[in-house]
Amino acid sequence: MILAHDLDNLQQSLLELAQAGKRVALVPTMGALHAGHASLITLALEHADAVVVSIFVNPTQFGKNEDFSVYPRTLEADMKIAQEAGASIIYAPSAEDMYPEGFNTSVSAGRIGTLLCGKFRTGHFDGVATVVTKLLLRVMPHVAVFGMKDYQQLCVIKQVVNDLDIPIEEIIPAPIVREADGLALSSRNHYLSEDERKIATLLYQTLKNTANQLKTSSVTDALAKGVADLTSNGYKVDYLEIFEDHLLVAAWLGKTRLIDNIKIDYENQ
Ligand code: AMP
Repeated sequence: MILAHDLDNLQQSLLELAQAGKRVALVPTMGALHAGHASLITLALEHADAVVVSIFVNPTQFGKNEDFSVYPRTLEADMKIAQEAGASIIYAPSAEDMYPEGFNTSVSAGRIGTLLCGKFRTGHFDGVATVVTKLLLRVMPHVAVFGMKDYQQLCVIKQVVNDLDIPIEEIIPAPIVREADGLALSSRNHYLSEDERKIATLLYQTLKNTANQLKTSSVTDALAKGVADLTSNGYKVDYLEIFEDHLLVAAWLGKTRLIDNIKIDYENQ
């Protein structure tokens, strides 16, 4: 596995893959890799011969009071996980490599970027849209894999790729990997205290209960009950909302903001 820290190194390695006629998949991440990320690499290998994993804690997608400075940076451990999952290249650029002096353009995530998490994290999805556009154009992969854990992000990326004619065959969604108690794996789970970790299981449980409740109650009542359940268990809920055919939640446990979502099975509602 090759570690590339800048665009020149990356493109040299990509050239070798292209000359060997390999299909390339990109898996963008912010590092602190876990089994969820590994599953994306595994899925990517079903669609390509070689996987590029980018690791970049993108400053432009963090608000000024968010966790950019404390976000875990664990390159050594990440390389081991990526290599075991079968990645060929780790692209871990510096902020200067990604945003050289004079950088002055951004991609707007448009309307989707203002909904759900976008209401609470102003500019977040513009930062995501910009960095992912750059990564896609730098790597020019045949496919890219994104987790459904970040469902809104996946929608934003599909919209951007479609609207801007970014030449890629497919944006492939990967299922959410969960702990045994249902908590979706996340690099931010490390922030949870022992007590918070115990109640963190209620997030997924509440999504399932609320989806169930939708079969017999009005949307308003089902969502209100879900919010009340979380609040009474110590969560501060940013939102619990239906978007397209998904039920999505973002809620705080202490200083940790957790997100999760499930697909609503309307046929069996
Ligand atoms: P992150 O490093 O958290 O920005 O995530 C990088 C990619 O991994 C995104 O496409 C996420 O949706 C995906 N991802 C993160 N956690 C999970 C998970 N538990 N299951 C599946 N995909 C995930």
